[in-house]
Amino acid sequence: MVRTRFAPSPTGYLHIGGVRTALYNWLFARQHGGQFILRIDDTDKQRNVEEALRPILDGLRWLGIEWDEGPDVGGPLGPYYQSQRLDRYREAVEKLLAGGHAYYDYATTEEIQAERTAAEREKRMFRYSRRFMAETPADRARFEAEGRQAVVRLKIPAEGKLTIDDAIRGRVEFDWVNEQDHVVQRADGTCLYHLANVVDDHDFQITHVIRAEEHLSNTPRQVFIVEALGYPRPAYAHLPLVAEPGSHTKLSKRKLDKYLKNRDFADLLEHGRKIAAAIGHPVEADVFNPVIVDFYRTVGFLPEAIVNYLALLGWSLDDKTEHFSRRELIESFSLDRVNKAPASFDPRKLMAFEERHFQLLPSERKVELVVPFLGKAKLVASPPTSGEQRIVEKVVAAARDRIKVAGDVLEFADFFQPDDRLEYDEKAFAKNLGKEGAAELLAKFRDRLATAEPFEAAAIETLLRDFVDAEGIKIGRIIHPLRVAVTGKSIGFGLFDTLAILGRERCLRRIERALAR
Ligand code: GLU
Repeated sequence: MVRTRFAPSPTGYLHIGGVRTALYNWLFARQHGGQFILRIDDTDKQRNVEEALRPILDGLRWLGIEWDEGPDVGGPLGPYYQSQRLDRYREAVEKLLAGGHAYYDYATTEEIQAERTAAEREKRMFRYSRRFMAETPADRARFEAEGRQAVVRLKIPAEGKLTIDDAIRGRVEFDWVNEQDHVVQRADGTCLYHLANVVDDHDFQITHVIRAEEHLSNTPRQVFIVEALGYPRPAYAHLPLVAEPGSHTKLSKRKLDKYLKNRDFADLLEHGRKIAAAIGHPVEADVFNPVIVDFYRTVGFLPEAIVNYLALLGWSLDDKTEHFSRRELIESFSLDRVNKAPASFDPRKLMAFEERHFQLLPSERKVELVVPFLGKAKLVASPPTSGEQRIVEKVVAAARDRIKVAGDVLEFADFFQPDDRLEYDEKAFAKNLGKEGAAELLAKFRDRLATAEPFEAAAIETLLRDFVDAEGIKIGRIIHPLRVAVTGKSIGFGLFDTLAILGRERCLRRIERALAR
């Protein structure tokens, strides 16, 4: 039975790179009919763990990465929070001590530091001398009489090699001489992360440890603990970094300023900010930032698009297939096709996946997705009236691929603004309606429009073309002022569709208002 896990710390946000780790674990478990466990790494004393965890749990659920055991859902092997498992860690430390794999050490921080400095001075590798190692109860008593306190350290071999067969990186060798006698229990009796990690993976019967590459260097000490405790060794798979756009450095939520120099990243953020601002969502970098999953949820990205993009951020089936449904991903995913090289986060590609997945949706689904944005922007009632609902349906159909994420519907806010409160783009207004003769032409056309029958795109188009011929003008002279008059802007989808969706009454009212202005 395959059992994988994702082990986030409660940081208050879900990092896009973290999602990729969770996703690969989830895909691997689902593919093998196994289980995916969510474990919370909260050994660092922290208040408000629940609060700091919420965005992580919500984000994973939104993406459809459901866990079989863990917070909220429980499970037979819980608790799934490290802070609630301290007894298990203490037992493990006792076992390490009893087996001679760990020792009480009474050195002070200063004494260790002095050894380190001496090693640096003499240009040799630092290894702790074990000078304050207590091997017998008598040693302990003697050190304690000096007022010293003990930590517990691993008794790492002085020589030899450790080999790990990593499912992604292949065979990796480590020399024990490069390792330290790492501390596993502090003087206050609390345990360190590496120990907790190993004990939990064992207790939760994890078969495959699939995690970020930055943990590869921690693996020797963890394997040492695994073996010292007599546990079976899990399989390891270290995923390449999710890197910054166009670089090999780890993507970080704190380097927004740097990423804004990347055009695609800046465009993505700007796109999101416009939508967020329109619905009154905060846009500050610490909460609203494309490195954090909540960004995508706020602006209306499709979870399946994010999942598809992230699946391919470091993995591929072949060199051509790009679009996968969730089911197809579960069937095709494999660890041996995960790249070793860092995978650069590419905002433009992510956007392309979103666009494609959105276009594939049936129109009813699109409508369902955009309606909440119009509601949040207070452009329609929540739920919308049946009249509003009909306009949304028509706008979505006419907008075609102009709606790439659900929040893009707000670009068509003008359809939902009351006619007497339509907002104008002042520049566009001045340019198109302020022109010599523009108002007169528009007034003339209004009288024609009043008689259009039926009031549908095709009929309106014929009417307008006849008007242009009769007046002997270029079509632009009427089209542009007309568009600004009825939508407030100089851009949008087909003008005839626009007029038809608004209907005769509203068009005439809007033209009146523009003329009066
Ligand atoms: N809490 C660790 C992290 O967030 C998990 C390490 C692991 O997967 O072993 O990086």
